[in-house]
Amino acid sequence: MSNPSLLILPGDGIGPEVMDQVTRVIDWFGAKRDLAFDVSTDLVGGAAYDAHGTPLHDDTMAKALEVDAVLLGAVGGPKYDDLDFSLKPERGLLRLRKEMDLFSNLRPAQCFDALADFSSLKKDIVAGLDIMIVRELTSGVYFGEPRGIFEEGNERVGINTQRYTESEIERVARSAFDLAMKRGKKLCSMEKANVMESGILWREVVTKVGEEYPEVELSHMYADNGAMQLVRAPKQFDVIVTDNLFGDVLSDCAAMLTGSLGMLPSASLGAPMENGQARAMYEPVHGSAPDITGQGKANPIACMLSFAMALRYSFDQGAEATRLESAIEKVLADGARTADLMGPEGGTALSTTEMGDVILAALDASL
Ligand code: NAD
Repeated sequence: MSNPSLLILPGDGIGPEVMDQVTRVIDWFGAKRDLAFDVSTDLVGGAAYDAHGTPLHDDTMAKALEVDAVLLGAVGGPKYDDLDFSLKPERGLLRLRKEMDLFSNLRPAQCFDALADFSSLKKDIVAGLDIMIVRELTSGVYFGEPRGIFEEGNERVGINTQRYTESEIERVARSAFDLAMKRGKKLCSMEKANVMESGILWREVVTKVGEEYPEVELSHMYADNGAMQLVRAPKQFDVIVTDNLFGDVLSDCAAMLTGSLGMLPSASLGAPMENGQARAMYEPVHGSAPDITGQGKANPIACMLSFAMALRYSFDQGAEATRLESAIEKVLADGARTADLMGPEGGTALSTTEMGDVILAALDASL
């Protein structure tokens, strides 16, 4: 059988720097765990614009549609700020999401005990936190028609339309239930069925899909209450599923419970391919961090945790994903910190490569 395939798109700024460390981890799994990947690397964002005059070459897009999973670093930077909208680095990312039809966005909020002091919430509320927000990514109010700014009488009116079809709700609900089955078997669906018809339909469809998952404990919550509960008692949740707009807000809110941007991974899943696996792209939540690019200060953990998500969700290697996450947890518990994780008490920050070194050593120690 051929190895699973992975397309790596390091992108811009700190993207290539953090991806270098992830590549070392990928090589480690090939050498030490008999888990080799067919890895290809290509350009995206400003790097692709510099080489080809477009933020995503058609050949790269075609490759992304062929592989088992895409791992992306970050795109963008001040050098590209004045480019025409259609050529901006972010357009490369959006094209990947659109053509791969990545409708289910997975945003974990996980708090490593060693970093609980970084949260704006009290330590005991976030220590050990491990929740997953599933956000619908390709429909809803960001895409619904009609939209625009129109003249009405003697003033202008801004219009966006919240629109969901049953099948759009059904597919993201199914992806959230599947995920809940792999985790704590608890799913909370959030909408505003009290004031929005799209919310009423959302609740009905999620409830119906739930009948296929009798093992999963399903609950419903109005999204505004959900926001309050996330900051009041976040550990009550396991998996949350919600629409594009509420998911945008709630996932950022939940992510920040855990501290640094340098720690946050994400996954975006699409429809199943011929082999039954969902199309998937994994990427850290952070951007290209031009303020620290080239200084060896970037924290590679968000990108490594994104690869751990790929192991778990695309390659069915949950135990190996846990091995990598545990190695990261171990080095943090031992006090390893990149500059973004330094508390007020100070200490010596590890470089990007040094953080890679200690994580690889912890992986070796896990054997
Ligand atoms: P950013 O995430 O790049 O940086 C915000 C702050 O967090 C900076 O101070 C940065 O140094 C720090 N930071 C981010 N990642 C870090 C890491 N791994 N280790 C240590 N520190 C880290 O957001 P920004 O400054 O608003 O945007 C910079 C560029 O990135 C812009 O061009 C923006 O469009 C782009 N961007 C891209 C993505 C993406 O590729 N998915 C996401 C957000 C922003």
